[in-house]
Amino acid sequence: MKKNQKQKPNPKEEHSNTATEPSLKAAPPTDLKVNKKNRFIADSMLGSLARKLRILGFDVIYFPEVDDRHLHDLSLREKRILLTADRALHNYSSGRRVSSIFLLEDSDEKRLIRLFNTLGLREVTLNPKESRCPKCNGEIKTCTKKTLSGIIPQSIVQQHTQFYRCASCMKVYWKGSHWRRIASMTRRVEARLKKGG
Ligand SMILES: [Zn+2]
Repeated sequence: MKKNQKQKPNPKEEHSNTATEPSLKAAPPTDLKVNKKNRFIADSMLGSLARKLRILGFDVIYFPEVDDRHLHDLSLREKRILLTADRALHNYSSGRRVSSIFLLEDSDEKRLIRLFNTLGLREVTLNPKESRCPKCNGEIKTCTKKTLSGIIPQSIVQQHTQFYRCASCMKVYWKGSHWRRIASMTRRVEARLKKGG
């Protein structure tokens, strides 16, 4: 996972020839960390992006079918950033007190890079304890194997050590192949963000 990644040394400090504290300890400025308090509402074309953002820990409302006016009103009422691939909706909302981000990219990975760049975020974390349920946006809690008897196949219970459950819809999650794909995508997104997009 990302936390095990090594940070590159700062070239300026490498060339300083002084016995100062190793640059490996240098932390990024706190104002550039992902702000998980950013809350979003995604339009009906961005369902898979909404699910990925939830896994990354963001609070995202998404409806498969909803009219533009309702999306606009909800964004305004709940102070959520509107994510849309619809230029007309973006123009309508951004002209009416809604923070709207227009995402025209052709993949979720590119959309995430665009979104985080727009928000000025340079670091993204993937931590199952911070994730929200990709299905319903509910909060995820850790759960014990004992509570999963008869709910998921025994073979999966035996293969994994950590399990998580949505407090709202009760769906059970574990770090399977889907998690590994998201983790891999997150590393690529973060690498691009650190290069400045
Ligand atoms: Zn759920």
